[in-house]
Amino acid sequence: MIQRIPTPEKMKEIVSALKCERRSIGLVPTMGYFHEGHLSLMRRSSAENDATIVSLFVNPTQFGANEDLEKYPRDLDRDTKLAEEAGADYLFTPTNEMMYPEGYKTYVKVVDWSGFLCGVSRPIHFRGVTTVCCKLFNICMPDRAYFGLKDAQQYLIIDKMVRDLNMNVEIIPMQTVREADGLAMSSRNVYLTDEERKAAPLIQKGLTKALKMYENGETDAKKVKAAISDTIAESQLFKLDYLEAVSKETLCPVEGILPGTLIAVAAYLGKARLIDNIIL
Ligand code: AMP
Repeated sequence: MIQRIPTPEKMKEIVSALKCERRSIGLVPTMGYFHEGHLSLMRRSSAENDATIVSLFVNPTQFGANEDLEKYPRDLDRDTKLAEEAGADYLFTPTNEMMYPEGYKTYVKVVDWSGFLCGVSRPIHFRGVTTVCCKLFNICMPDRAYFGLKDAQQYLIIDKMVRDLNMNVEIIPMQTVREADGLAMSSRNVYLTDEERKAAPLIQKGLTKALKMYENGETDAKKVKAAISDTIAESQLFKLDYLEAVSKETLCPVEGILPGTLIAVAAYLGKARLIDNIIL
């Protein structure tokens, strides 16, 4: 039976007991409203660790002033059931006041990288992500933490933070889980109207085209990006935020595609901002 843990203090008590018993801990940080993407992380953690903690916290410090913090979809009872079925042992659900009490002052930021790609239109986002993950790592002391490659920049930034700050946690990336038509699963997909939902898989269609071009020998990033943007432009509903080919090691744009180049896209589709990527 999964246990809901509402406070950092109680979570720390449980973690101390698990550590005394030398049981390994897997952590899956989330903002809830679970789909198969989240559940794939939980199943893997449950298979690889003695105990799995899923944190469910819609972290206010990673939302900009005009973003969807208030409207972010929530369904705690459904999430609790799904997490239990996926093998999670604890659902950690702190409140904003517990995570950021009055007078809170401390932030963790991976410089430069937090300002690239999604960081251009969401300037405070990654500082919020690294801060909350650092706090979650300190509370839950996981041996392993699981992150989805749908949010590739987030994974790379967290992995960098952990290496730079000598944190004792292994960061494990997991493949993007998709709908049958290719759309990357996301809690925010519920914002899409029927018409937008039909257009949404064009992003993945463009990325797949890019992969085929690369496999056929095309390494010119400009040409590959043009093929993706042409595909996305098949629907006028999209407003492209960015489309970049970058090095996974530096997050800097590349002109020539090499093995390991990350092609990342963000596009507005109605009220939703969709992101997706491919690592070539
Ligand atoms: P979120 O609740 O959106 O903050 O996501 C929590 C975790 O689930 C993050 O590590 C995400 O990268 C991961 N995730 C979200 N969507 C997917 C997906 N479609 N496939 C795999 N992992 C995902």
